Amino acid sequence: MDTVDRLIALDRQHVWHPYSAMPNPLPVFAVRAAKGVRLELEDGRSLIDGISSWWTCIHGYSHPRLNQAAQRQIEKMSHVMFGGLTHRPAVELAQKLIEITPEPLQHVFFSDSGSVAVEVAMKMAVQYWHNRALPHKHKFLTLRSGYHGDTFAAMSVCDPVNGMHPLFNGLLAKQYFADAPQIRFDQPWQERDIASFEALLKAHHQQIAAAIFEPVVQNAGGVRFYHPEYVRRASELCKQYNVLLILDEIATGFGRCGKLFACEYAGISPDIMCVGKALSGGFMSLAATLTTTHISKTFASGEAGVFMHGPTFMGNPLACAVALENLRLLESYDWPAKIAAIEAQLKAELAICRSLKAVKDVRVLGAIGAIELHQPVDMARVQPQFVDRGVWLRPFGRLLYTMPPYIIEPHELRQVTAAMYEVAALL
Ligand SMILES: *Cc1c(COP(=O)(O)O)cnc(C)c1O
Repeated sequence: MDTVDRLIALDRQHVWHPYSAMPNPLPVFAVRAAKGVRLELEDGRSLIDGISSWWTCIHGYSHPRLNQAAQRQIEKMSHVMFGGLTHRPAVELAQKLIEITPEPLQHVFFSDSGSVAVEVAMKMAVQYWHNRALPHKHKFLTLRSGYHGDTFAAMSVCDPVNGMHPLFNGLLAKQYFADAPQIRFDQPWQERDIASFEALLKAHHQQIAAAIFEPVVQNAGGVRFYHPEYVRRASELCKQYNVLLILDEIATGFGRCGKLFACEYAGISPDIMCVGKALSGGFMSLAATLTTTHISKTFASGEAGVFMHGPTFMGNPLACAVALENLRLLESYDWPAKIAAIEAQLKAELAICRSLKAVKDVRVLGAIGAIELHQPVDMARVQPQFVDRGVWLRPFGRLLYTMPPYIIEPHELRQVTAAMYEVAALL
């Protein structure tokens, strides 16, 4: 491979990127290496990654502790099958996850991506009711503006508009959609916000296996921060109507919103929880679905006698070893103080964006800062404007947002927020 131009030309010809078209995809930038908060491009430019490679690399790239954990594990084995075999990395990571998640969650099912963790959660819920001789409970209740992944079951509970349901009409299971929560994180709670959720439960609980949603922050569905009381009330209603609660903490988990898990804001524990994204610190693809003993113990007596799922690369030792080190790393410093500092800086520095005519709203929670625009952004135009300012961001829809690595320094975050202001000012 010779020049950077040729690399990009070949990429454009053959390589399909996320949410893009062939054969004339949106522009891409070639990365040569990444270290700390920085991406180093093939053309020599250096960018501060303001979205942590889709919210994953919370401790930055090429962290020495994660690299060492991977190297140590490679010397032993990078992968073995998980059927009939087990290993220290998976067992120790499971123990760690059980220790840091709410107490009722006692069992961990590993998988290789968030979407699959959601599929597993949904299958678990359906099979649970099957085990309890209530097989007609196989529908799901979810929230508008949600996002849970790109596979078919996950897509069925994504927002029907953003999730492009009409495209797969007939293939997607029909689920129940409550109105998206409207009361914001810091506004006074009003009971009417939960009315649509409650009405759907009341009318259809006999068909519903579980409610599934992202607690407190709907991320890919529009970076919406909503009231924790919604989560608490939803949890209460699920119990009342004999419906399981699945919380998708794939984006919110591991400190991003200021608590280790967003459900802590509501003081509740789900029946099933999905984690992914930041689990391995962005090092490798790894996800997990956690559940309670109450759920798991019904499986042995059910018709199948087992839970019917088992990915080939389940519990990959290399990914588990790195994830375990990532969680130890997270525990090794005062991350809540770091998130609080990022939050305070984002609030202070993004506030002036409110005065821009293209801007509809500015909001910040934990290490998430979003500028909502009146009009959708033209990615092909906006992306290079960020790159020109030495910053990597990936706006979508009407949102310019940042979810920086926790290790970002104030002067680096300052460069990100300045770029957000400048780009929004050009709109
Ligand atoms: C990213 C995401 C997923 C899907 O995870 P993948 O690893 O992309 O399959 C599911 N749920 C939420 C809340 C997410 O943010």
